[in-house]
Amino acid sequence: MRLNGKRAFITAAGQGIGRAVAEAMTAEGAHVVATDLKGDLLSDIKAAESFALDATDKDALQKAITVAKPDILVNCAGFVHNGTIADCTDEQWGFAFDLNCRTQFHGMQAALPGMVERGGGSIINVSSVASSIIAAPNRFVYAATKAAVIAMTKSVALDYVTTGVRCNCICPGTVDSPSLHQRWEDSGDYEAAKKQFIARQPMGRVGTPEEIAKLAIYLGSDESAFTTGHAHVIDGGWSVG
Ligand code: NAD
Repeated sequence: MRLNGKRAFITAAGQGIGRAVAEAMTAEGAHVVATDLKGDLLSDIKAAESFALDATDKDALQKAITVAKPDILVNCAGFVHNGTIADCTDEQWGFAFDLNCRTQFHGMQAALPGMVERGGGSIINVSSVASSIIAAPNRFVYAATKAAVIAMTKSVALDYVTTGVRCNCICPGTVDSPSLHQRWEDSGDYEAAKKQFIARQPMGRVGTPEEIAKLAIYLGSDESAFTTGHAHVIDGGWSVG
């Protein structure tokens, strides 16, 4: 198995991409510590350990990571705000950066000393193709946070490149997850919103969380030993042109 002997810590593992990553890493032999704001979502997850954790609670997050001693850290917690710059309130701006960026800052800060001491590790931050890579409609503050994730990823990768610790991020396109269905619901016309999202996909479909998890397995495993500091795009060709 590709992650035998490795320990992984994952935020937002209750559903969507985080859950698929947690279960795929478990299937590949990792000891997975799966966490989510909503503990009930973890009741049937296939992971060695699981518990409720608000990733925006700095002390709780950093303590949990220190105890878990992960070789692989997956910073997945994030929220999609819908709207242009005209719609964005200061509260939304603050919430978006607190959840999408500050949690990753705190998670990496807690995981790095142990990884360095043990001679290596792999940090996987979840960004998005809607970031500094492409603009998507109504993703003003969301894209700003996900661009910051790419910047943090590169900075950490460079500063730790000689320690054996690698830091990459995953930039998915549109992925089938509970929050995606909620966004379609919230648009007021579920079917029309779904059709519009699929229409912008060159492959004619959105991605699956399991497809994203396969990339996370690669980045978490030693197969990707020569890769650090990069934004790995997985978007069904959306950003190609
Ligand atoms: P989702 O949005 O359906 O689920 C998010 C999970 O995060 C939920 O289980 C929720 O309980 C948890 N969560 C929310 N606040 C939290 C907090 N404070 N602490 C811990 N957990 C918290 O899942 P998704 O759509 O797969 O999104 C996961 C990540 O992938 C996000 O960072 C998102 O921005 C990113 N992403 C998603 C897509 C997509 O199309 N689904 C595309 C690109 C990037």
